[in-house]
Amino acid sequence: MNVTIIGTGYVGLVSAAVLAEIGHDVVCIDVNEEKIQRLRNGECPIFEKGLPELLEKNKHRMRFLSDYQQGCQDAAIIMIAVGTPEKKDGSANLSYVFGAAKEVCYNLDHDAILIVKSTVPIGTNDEVERIVQENLTKEIHVEVVSNPEFLSQGTAVSDMMQGYRIVAGCESDYAREKIKALYEPLKQPLVLTDRRSAEMIKYASNDFLALKISYINEIANLCECLGANVEDVATGMGFDPRIGDKFLRAGIGYGGSCFPKDTKALHWMAIQNDYEIKTVKAAITVNENQKFRLLQKAKNYYDSFEGIEIAVLGLAFKPGTDDLREAPSLAIIPALLEDGAKIRAWDPCAEDAFRGQVDNSAKGEIRFCGSLRESLREADLCLILTEWDQVKALTPADFKEMRRPIIIDGRNCFCLEDMENEAIVYASIGRKTVG
Ligand code: NAD
Repeated sequence: MNVTIIGTGYVGLVSAAVLAEIGHDVVCIDVNEEKIQRLRNGECPIFEKGLPELLEKNKHRMRFLSDYQQGCQDAAIIMIAVGTPEKKDGSANLSYVFGAAKEVCYNLDHDAILIVKSTVPIGTNDEVERIVQENLTKEIHVEVVSNPEFLSQGTAVSDMMQGYRIVAGCESDYAREKIKALYEPLKQPLVLTDRRSAEMIKYASNDFLALKISYINEIANLCECLGANVEDVATGMGFDPRIGDKFLRAGIGYGGSCFPKDTKALHWMAIQNDYEIKTVKAAITVNENQKFRLLQKAKNYYDSFEGIEIAVLGLAFKPGTDDLREAPSLAIIPALLEDGAKIRAWDPCAEDAFRGQVDNSAKGEIRFCGSLRESLREADLCLILTEWDQVKALTPADFKEMRRPIIIDGRNCFCLEDMENEAIVYASIGRKTVG
């Protein structure tokens, strides 16, 4: 099939590569011309495991354009995968989705299926259909389908190739048959429903995962008060298939471009309908507070961070990505700089993105270190924000190179047994502090 994908971000570009891999001819459109140029040059503009290889392998079936007219030619399926970032009031900004839908209308001259893959509030696809009816310039039939995406950054390619399910909200048999044909080679369970339910499946799923994270984080905080070990608690819980062992890792909370905005958007949708979704609201509040647990723990060792050399390991919101959106580092590092700390930051790929976010007027200073060793050397405190494999491979001996080896681990990267009886202080989340 000829598929055109609008937006070459994490979702659009991965979808494009996977659809090309299963035999479709794919055109990618993006308003960011620099990105399109890099893609044309054979570069992959985002850090995502397996993506450069998949793009290279399928380059004969992929084209990259910034022109809608050319991009919509011959497309049987057009997929909108642009961002839906959070607005100040917590609602989703739909201007990119609506803008893309209008551009399609102005440039399309044949029947097509218009898929909305972006995460959008319930009812948005109906609004897209209204926009389509109002803005089509030719006598053609365009059917709107909701087809939310469930991939996670860091494992996006395998998530899409071996997804748990594909969800599609269609309003006709014609659209249902097209969706079946599009995804048939992936051999994944296909949940066919109406558009509003499909939109809700996405929010209900993401928010459920966010709830699970906030729940285990609260249990962790309580474990600290009561002398229990949250890792053992999670292991014991996870054997029960009704609970499952995934998303039970305690830490400093979720970040990224999805959970924070999707919890707030559902909460906002509920309020708009005179309903308060208390569980999701609680997950949001717990997550907001959780990222500052590390600073509270650090205060046990330093009254003020002025002049303190602090190794910060990890800036990205999770390992395997260069994405900083809603990363705890964006809240923790400014608070430390405000207090006058001297940060020695390390991240294997999010460093450049972070540089652009630093407020140079703060009292403290930040230095980006090319290696973990450089970051740790002469540090008075180490904060672990992202569980990169390189961080998990460190040993107590590596931390002993610090001037004062106090490690506060926001991601529980190490076994307590390995850190006990060493000449270091090791504090983590939901477990006793050793040393
Ligand atoms: P992104 O910000 O990485 O990429 C969006 C891209 O769309 C950018 O390259 C931007 O230049 C382009 N764009 C914006 N307006 C455009 C327009 N009018 N025409 C053409 N291109 C345009 O976004 P993302 O992380 O890929 O997320 C896209 C959507 O998918 C969001 O709704 C998000 O919630 C959802 N989603 C994201 C993930 C994830 O892990 N990132 C997972 C599932 C769902």
